[in-house]
Amino acid sequence: MTNIIIFAISISAGTEDEIIIERKEVSSCELSEPLNIEELGYTHVAQIEILKDITENKIHHQTKLIRSNTICPSCGKTTNKHGTFTSNFHSVFSDHKVQIQRRNCNCGWTNKFTLEGLFGSAFHPDLLKLQCEFGSDNSFKRAENLLKALNTRHRPVNNHVRISKTIEKIGSIIGEFKTENPVQTENYGMEIAKIAKKNFYISEMNWEK
Ligand SMILES: [Zn+2]
Repeated sequence: MTNIIIFAISISAGTEDEIIIERKEVSSCELSEPLNIEELGYTHVAQIEILKDITENKIHHQTKLIRSNTICPSCGKTTNKHGTFTSNFHSVFSDHKVQIQRRNCNCGWTNKFTLEGLFGSAFHPDLLKLQCEFGSDNSFKRAENLLKALNTRHRPVNNHVRISKTIEKIGSIIGEFKTENPVQTENYGMEIAKIAKKNFYISEMNWEK
């Protein structure tokens, strides 16, 4: 008899009855005795892949809920579907493409249909936090290599140019922030990281400008 481990995630609606929208198998494998330490649990690459699959599935369901705007906020009439727009989303350990419904109205109103337009950034704040932590204490090239090791692969979003842009952007925000809340020089890297994690500051940015 073969033993199979099935790892599944459930997505449920936020109601008291906990309606299950989807159960999906993420990973399965034949259960066998580990013959060496490497076979115990998962490899680094396998862990990253599982996280990617779980994230992809959650995003798929979440993006369907993004501000549907079936009623025009400008004139109150019913809006029209106008295709979907695909945005890149950069999560902590994986990159995704998300589709957001475009809507418009006869009055001229159109919805926000990009992640930058909706949230100010296509980068998860925790990814920016990592880039700041590695980029503040290392050369940008070395920070790129450290993130490559952490992710088990190179991601264009973690290249040294992008890391330098993140540091520059967050640094400029701290420059403005500093006057009211002095930042300790010796903790500069960590202060950047903490600020990067605050959605308020991220939402103030437009990373493409
Ligand atoms: Zn309208």
